[in-house]
Amino acid sequence: MNDGEIRALQQIVDRSRRIVFFGGAGVSTASGIPDFRSAEGLYAGEEDGLSPEMILSKTFFYLQPERFFDYYRKHMLYPEAKPNAAHRKLFELEQADRLRGIVTQNVDGLHRAAGNIRVYELHGNVHENHCMDCNAPYPMEAILQAEGIPRCKDCGGVIKPDVTLYGEPLEKYVCIGAIREITNADTLVVAGTSLAVEPAASFTGHFRGKHLVVLNRDPVPGEEQATLVIRGDVAEILERIEVRPA
Ligand SMILES: [Zn+2]
Repeated sequence: MNDGEIRALQQIVDRSRRIVFFGGAGVSTASGIPDFRSAEGLYAGEEDGLSPEMILSKTFFYLQPERFFDYYRKHMLYPEAKPNAAHRKLFELEQADRLRGIVTQNVDGLHRAAGNIRVYELHGNVHENHCMDCNAPYPMEAILQAEGIPRCKDCGGVIKPDVTLYGEPLEKYVCIGAIREITNADTLVVAGTSLAVEPAASFTGHFRGKHLVVLNRDPVPGEEQATLVIRGDVAEILERIEVRPA
């Protein structure tokens, strides 16, 4: 990240009225949530020969719920995590009428916690959970505090996180909304995630606006299509952007 790149991003932001932000794990690392797919991230490790993709799958949830919840509590829930400079800047941009929406692969709920309204959580949110039998809603604490499999206090059914597991389809209406925003965007900022890997590719492929910006710590597949690429931590980059009213 250098001053020239920040100036270029500032200029794009100042000229945009319908920015859509498409974010991945790299947006939340500054909040202390590890990047799922990075070399040292969650998905690099294995437990008993099982990859995290296997444990966090629909099949594993139904076959071995106890082990699923052990892993889920240990690696997916960060009750202390707070929005970082990236989340806060995106809230300011929405307030200033420059940002149309946020499409995120993250399940930490930090964009909503920062105050953003138009947030499309492609993989759901760890704060929303429900009883599989009576549909009663439960907060994240119900999962955290339970020992073993979390159970509904009314009917004893299993409480399932509203998080998309491997092997489950994405929520249809969230996808439709996200694609609509990306299609109408004048600028698309893809941050902390790869452009060319699913599900990002099927979403960002709808963009037909002017500026495609990539913010990421490491090179990502597909970044050669971008008008501006800035290498660095997403929070550190966005912290330097000034929000001017549209
Ligand atoms: Zn119930």
